[in-house]
Amino acid sequence: MVYATRRFEFSAAHRYWRDDWSPEENERVFGKCTSPYGHGHNYTLDVTITGTLDARTGMVMNMTELKAIVNEVLEEFDHRHLNEDTPYFRDQLPTTENLVRVLWQLIAARLPGAARLARLRLYETPELWADYDGAEETTFARSYSFAAAHRLHAPALSAEENRAVYGKCNNSNGHGHNYTLEVSVAGPVDPATGMVIDLVAMDHTVRGLLDTLDFRHLDQEIAAFADKPSTAEHIVIYLWDELAPRFEGRLRRLKLWETRKNVFEYAGPNPMTNGM
Ligand SMILES: [Zn+2]
Ligand SMILES: [Zn+2]
Repeated sequence: MVYATRRFEFSAAHRYWRDDWSPEENERVFGKCTSPYGHGHNYTLDVTITGTLDARTGMVMNMTELKAIVNEVLEEFDHRHLNEDTPYFRDQLPTTENLVRVLWQLIAARLPGAARLARLRLYETPELWADYDGAEETTFARSYSFAAAHRLHAPALSAEENRAVYGKCNNSNGHGHNYTLEVSVAGPVDPATGMVIDLVAMDHTVRGLLDTLDFRHLDQEIAAFADKPSTAEHIVIYLWDELAPRFEGRLRRLKLWETRKNVFEYAGPNPMTNGM
């Protein structure tokens, strides 16, 4: 199967507020998103389609045709207030999870016979997005950063071998990175909050763990790396092992960027879903 993706952008305002909750409860769950006049985002939507290749054109679908179909759908959302100007959020909050599912319905219904919608990824900001593939579960992801020093040095190798294997990364005084961790969780969307997970709780959980690494020397200060090299592979497995129990079965994938050029993914010892 070939998967083809085209990126779209639109801008919209929204607000999270439930009239049947107290102001305190709204504030606790939705934070700044409760602001009465709304706020807005530049949304980015990645539309991925698949299907049998057209024998004559060699394409899944003409991207110009896809562009026209999706732009027609987005017309209703672009430069609008999602709660006030569209009919989709009278009974549900315009969260990223709900919005991506609404867009799925609208786009999937308009695709011509041979093409099938495979996946939508909707970015609310570059650090917060939702993935949807038409199934029961919606995936929500957020990226976090931490900065740490480390040295790649394996106790099982000799000094010469360490230098040969790790090169500059074996420098005895260490070096450091701005790490970025993408955390993907998945599950049913809570009808009350429109979210897969309580965002405040998710931030608290992930930030709590990453703060123990932030501005530290991993090998010198973190017990888990005292006797094994602090490779990105070991770090992403360590983060998974720490986070998975706290997410009670909802953690699906971690993606650790060591630099902008090196990225490491881990979905646990028994991954439940395929790549996204
Ligand atoms: Zn917002
Ligand atoms: Zn390094």
